[in-house]
Formats: sequence, structure tokens, C-alpha cells
Amino acid sequence: MQRIKQTTSLMPQDQVFWYLDKQSPKRLHGTIKTDVVVVGGGMAGLSAAQSFRDKGCSVVLLEKNYCGAGASGKSSGFITPASEYNVSDLVRLFGQHEANRLWQFACSGVQSIKKNIEAFGIDCDYQQQDSLLVANSSSAYAKITSEYDAHQKLSYKSQLYDKAALASIVRSPEYYGGVSYPDTFGINTYRYCQAMKATLETSGVQIFEETPVVTVHANGVDTVDARLEADHIIVCVDRFAPDLKLLANDVFCAQTFLMLSAPLSDATIKQLFPDRPFMVWDSDLLYYYYRIIEGNRLMIGGTNLTSIFWGKEQHNSRTMVTALQGYAKKKFPNIVINFEYFWPGLIGISKDILPIADYDSVMPKVYYINAVAGLPWAAALGRYSADKILDKRDDLDHYFSLTRKFPVGLLAQSIVGKRIAFGLSNLTMLYK
Ligand SMILES: Cc1cc2nc3c(=O)[nH]c(=O)nc-3n(C[C@H](O)[C@H](O)[C@H](O)COP(=O)(O)OP(=O)(O)OC[C@H]3O[C@@H](n4cnc5c(N)ncnc54)[C@H](O)[C@@H]3O)c2cc1C
Repeated sequence: MQRIKQTTSLMPQDQVFWYLDKQSPKRLHGTIKTDVVVVGGGMAGLSAAQSFRDKGCSVVLLEKNYCGAGASGKSSGFITPASEYNVSDLVRLFGQHEANRLWQFACSGVQSIKKNIEAFGIDCDYQQQDSLLVANSSSAYAKITSEYDAHQKLSYKSQLYDKAALASIVRSPEYYGGVSYPDTFGINTYRYCQAMKATLETSGVQIFEETPVVTVHANGVDTVDARLEADHIIVCVDRFAPDLKLLANDVFCAQTFLMLSAPLSDATIKQLFPDRPFMVWDSDLLYYYYRIIEGNRLMIGGTNLTSIFWGKEQHNSRTMVTALQGYAKKKFPNIVINFEYFWPGLIGISKDILPIADYDSVMPKVYYINAVAGLPWAAALGRYSADKILDKRDDLDHYFSLTRKFPVGLLAQSIVGKRIAFGLSNLTMLYK
């Protein structure tokens, strides 16, 4: 058994690993007219830009920093339809038929990301890895079986593992079972976003990085040096919307943290995953997740009750470094893993964890894709926005509407405050 020397006295470097090689942007000045302006160059904005361009529109995309600078490029790149809701959650909340429609919608996002990677030969550490939801306790195993049952009822491929069977695919004595399903993969989403930027530019989309929008108005947007007038204004800024005085009551953010190990040997990877690497997360409310990325590094993520609704990024959090190290040590007691990078990230969320994709209530040209809480959802919503605006698609509108009913309403929110309102509302959805 291989043991790797651990340097526990050093904090991992506070640096998003993906951002270590980026280039300088081009500038935008004057007044520009375009069919569509997209604000935000994350997964949602890039997908929206691609979808409108595919339908023949002229498109300008404006990004405050660089494509992938928000949640997308900081993410752990699990490309699975599950995001925050597993199939069993969707069935519990919306019934079998609607759960199927929502899951299929998220699957369409998984497929569109894969299609882009293949069509444009994107080099983004694509790793075919099945999804694996695991139980940390015997009582949590009930959640695993209900997830398996939900997959079976909807005729989705999946496999159930009891404790002994699970140990043959994840060599940890600490899990009590799991359910896996195929057709999922992991990517380096920062590299994906940067590659999609280049691809879209080739197709005629004009992309301006380091060009923050300062105002969204009824007929377009302003940057510091330019005014863009457009027929359709697609705002995909996720948790940053309130900075633009938009969606202030509708979007909050949940914090999670990622940590990246030093390269592991092939033998160590085999010790973790004797059969083949999976993308793993556990079924706890504040779940931990991990997978192997390029260079044989183990990426592990999670959060805690104090940090999740903190509202801003907590860098150099020794508490979370210790928690993530502790998780790795507990789950894999025979393997010593040295961690080199650690970073926080904020995910825009709504009060029911489903996305917001809707028109502004007073500016009819302004459409939001926001609080998407999941990369495949963001990709699918980019497509949905173009289908809706140009072809009048509306079949999922009521799930994404700004005016839908949330467990905690605006009046209660104004009394208890945003953090508590979002916490309570999310909890209600997860336990309803
Ligand atoms: C640490 C972490 C791990 C995650 N892991 C996963 C995972 O494994 N799988 C998964 O499915 N999801 C994951 N997520 C969630 C997922 O990353 C997000 O749901 C998704 O990336 C949201 O995409 P987006 O395009 O809506 O937002 P973002 O990627 O945040 O994009 C918004 C963009 O808008 C830009 N912007 C903001 N303000 C302005 C302005 N004024 N003008 C111009 N541009 C502006 C920002 O710079 C940013 O680039 C993770 C998130 C985090 C933080």
C-alpha cells in the first residue's frame, strides 16, 4: 500500500487552479446595436449566446472578468443531471411525470455539453465517469434505495450496491451502500468555458471580457465605455444580479469549497476506486463530493452549516480545509493524501432550488437565466431561453417563473431576513 508524505502544517494555496494561464481581453467602445446581448460568460451565458447565434441572431456577450470566472469556472465539473435534486427529490416534490420532464431537461444540458466537446474537439479534461450517490450511515441507505426505486420506476439505468458490493468500487469501510447511474462525466469547466468562448467567436458572436455591465435598462445595457442596444437582453449573471440592482429578493448564494490533492500514483487511485473512477457524492444534507481529475489528482468538495449561507467567499478557511482533509482521512483511512489547492465558490440559488428563467416584470426585453444551481441546468436553460424567446417554447415556464410560490414568501423574508428566509425555504424543499 502506497503512503504519500503529508505536509499538514502548510495551508493549501488560495488559488483557483484552473485560472493559472489566461490571456488579455479586447475592448468595447461607443454604441452598438445587436439582436441579442448576453450578460455573463458562464455556462448559462455561453449556452444562451450559442443558442441565439444558432438561430441566426447577431449576438454580443459581455463578461465582467473572463468567461468562466464565476461559479462555472470554479466548479468541480460534475456533469450530471442531479445537481441539487436527485430523481427521488423531484418525484417527491412534483410527482413522477413532472420529475421525468425536469430530469430529462437537465439531461438535455448534459448532452449539449457533451455534444459541444465532441463537435468542437474541446480539450477540457473530459472524463467519462458514472455518478455514484453513497450513504454515510445505515439510516441514509434508505435514501439510496428510494433513489434507486425512483430510477427504476422511470426506467432509467441505475445500479444499487449494498455495503459489501460498494466496497468493490469505492474502497472505503465507511459507506453503507450506493446507487450509480451512467451517461455522466466530469470536465474542467473553466477550460470548457474558455474553449466555448473561442468557438463562439469563430461563429460570429462578439465576446468582450473584462467588460462589466453597469446598468441593465429597458432597451439594452451600459458598460463604462459603451452602450449596447438590443432586441433581447439575456442576463446570466447568477449570484451577481443584486449587484446590478436586479432580483435582489429572488437570488441568494450557497457556498461550497473545493480542495485538490497533489498527483496520486496509479496504485493509489486503484486503492480508492478498485474498478474505475466514479463521481461520488453522499446523501447528507450538506454533502461531500469527490472525483479524480487529470494528473491523477483527487478533487474533494463540501461545505458546513456556518459557511453555506455566509453570503460571501471565505478564503483560507482553515476550518473547511480541516473538514475536507478530515473527510478524506475518515473515508480512506489507509491512504494519506497531500492537498495542494483550496478555494471557495458561491452558487446562485433561488428559494426552491429550481432556476429562475423569466422576463423582468417591467422591462419586457430583459430575460433572466439565474440561480441555476447546476452546470447542465445552465446549459439547458441557455437553449430554453432562445427557444422561448424566438419560438415561444413555454412548457417549463411555471417551474422557472419569478412569480411562482416559494415556501417562504416575501413578507416573511422581509421580517426574518434573506439568509434565514433562503435557508428555511431550501430546507422545506429538501424535507417536504
Ligand atoms: C465550488 C463550486 C463547485 C460546483 N460544482 C458543480 C458541479 O460539479 N456540477 C454542477 O453541475 N454544478 C456545480 N456548481 C454549480 C455551477 O457551477 C453553477 O450552477 C453554474 O456554473 C452557474 O452558471 P452561470 O453561468 O449561471 O453562472 P456563472 O458561472 O457564475 O456566470 C455568471 C457570470 O456573470 C459574470 N458577471 C457578473 N456580473 C456581471 C456584470 N455586471 N457584467 C458582466 N458579467 C457579469 C460573472 O463574472 C460570471 O462569469 C459548482 C459551483 C461552485 C461554486
